[in-house]
Amino acid sequence: MCKHILNAQAAIRAPCCQKWFDCPECHAEKSDHPLLKMSEVVIACKKCKKVFRKDMERLMADPQAEGGAKGEDDADEYCPYCDNKFVLDAKTPAPVIGWEGDDVRMDNRMMKDQRIRQKTAAEVADELLQDMLEDTSVPS
Ligand SMILES: [Zn+2]
Ligand SMILES: [Zn+2]
Ligand SMILES: [Zn+2]
Repeated sequence: MCKHILNAQAAIRAPCCQKWFDCPECHAEKSDHPLLKMSEVVIACKKCKKVFRKDMERLMADPQAEGGAKGEDDADEYCPYCDNKFVLDAKTPAPVIGWEGDDVRMDNRMMKDQRIRQKTAAEVADELLQDMLEDTSVPS
């Protein structure tokens, strides 16, 4: 079970170690090597348990961001056997699938920022207080 994408609908076979993972984060935690990047990935639908291949670059392309290139590309988000939509909308902290392309790197950065913000939330308050104290104690 993947703890990063709670409602993961598909598993991806890592091309480097041929093991199944719910998301790139799972691979990073369970492996001692970086995930091999492939333009084509092997995906297993969790609903019908069938395995199929998908073009990673088409999957990662956001049809809405590209100005309405809808239609055929949308089919890539669905299992070809049972029409289960395995590409989920962005309510998860990490990309559902994919570890390639600018979008993923952007997401990773955002996740890191969130972690930092959570960690230092209390410290930020202290720092603000320190700044205020310093401002008042040093007359200009
Ligand atoms: Zn691997
Ligand atoms: Zn995961
Ligand atoms: Zn399916």
